[in-house]
Amino acid sequence: MTESVIKVNNPLLLFENLTIKYDTGIVAVKDINAGIKENSITAIMGPSGCGKSTLLRAVNRLLELYGNVKITGKIYLKNNDILSMNPMKLRRRIGMVFQQPNPFPTLSISDNVLAGYKLNGIRLKKRDREDIVEKSLKNVSLWNEVKDHLHTKPTLSGGQQQRLCIARALANNPEIILMDEPTSALDPIATSKIEDLLVQLKE
Ligand code: ADP
Ligand code: MG
Repeated sequence: MTESVIKVNNPLLLFENLTIKYDTGIVAVKDINAGIKENSITAIMGPSGCGKSTLLRAVNRLLELYGNVKITGKIYLKNNDILSMNPMKLRRRIGMVFQQPNPFPTLSISDNVLAGYKLNGIRLKKRDREDIVEKSLKNVSLWNEVKDHLHTKPTLSGGQQQRLCIARALANNPEIILMDEPTSALDPIATSKIEDLLVQLKE
C-alpha cells in the first residue's frame, strides 16, 4: 500500500505518514495518510500482499508480536497516539475478527461472548452476564439459533461461528471493530447475513 491521502474531519482513526517495514526488508505499508470516520464502515481493498492485514495489525498493536517490525509515522485513535499506548488497554477498545472464525472451542457459547470480560478479570453479576450475552447474540442475529444451548460448547456452522466471534467482539463495546476478510471462508448466504449485519450495526 503506498502514498495515499484521504482527508476526513474529526477522524476516529488517523494514519499519518505511516510506513511499516518487516525485518525481511519488505515495506508492506508506505507513507499512508488517511482518516477513518466514526460510525461508518470503511473497506480497504487491494490484491493479496498489498498490506491490508499489516495495516490492521498495526492498529491494534498485534504487529509487535511478529518480531522486528519497524513502524514510522503515527496512528491516532481519537487524537491519542496508538503507538505509545499500553497495548492491552488499547486492545480493549478495539475488537478484531479474523478470516477464519475462531471461537474458543472449549468454552460454551455464553462464555465465548463473555471471553473479553473474563480475560480482563472483570467480574459481572449473573444478571449482567445474561444481559450482555443476550444483547450481543441478538445484535448478530444468532440469539434465536443458539438460545437453547448457550451453556454447551459451540457446534455451529462457519457463518454462525463468525457471527459468534462478532458477538464476542461487540460484547466489549469496542470503539472500532477491525475485520480482516471476515467472510472469505464463508458461503454466499452466510456472507450476505454478515454484510447485512454490519450495515445494521452501523445504524
Ligand atoms: P494482505 O493482507 O493485503 O494480503 P499482508 O499485510 O499480509 O497483505 O502482507 C503485505 C506484505 O508484507 C507482503 O509482501 C507479505 O509477504 C509481507 N508480510 C506479511 N507478514 C509478514 C511477516 N510476518 N514477516 C515478513 N513479511 C510479511
Ligand atoms: Mg491479509
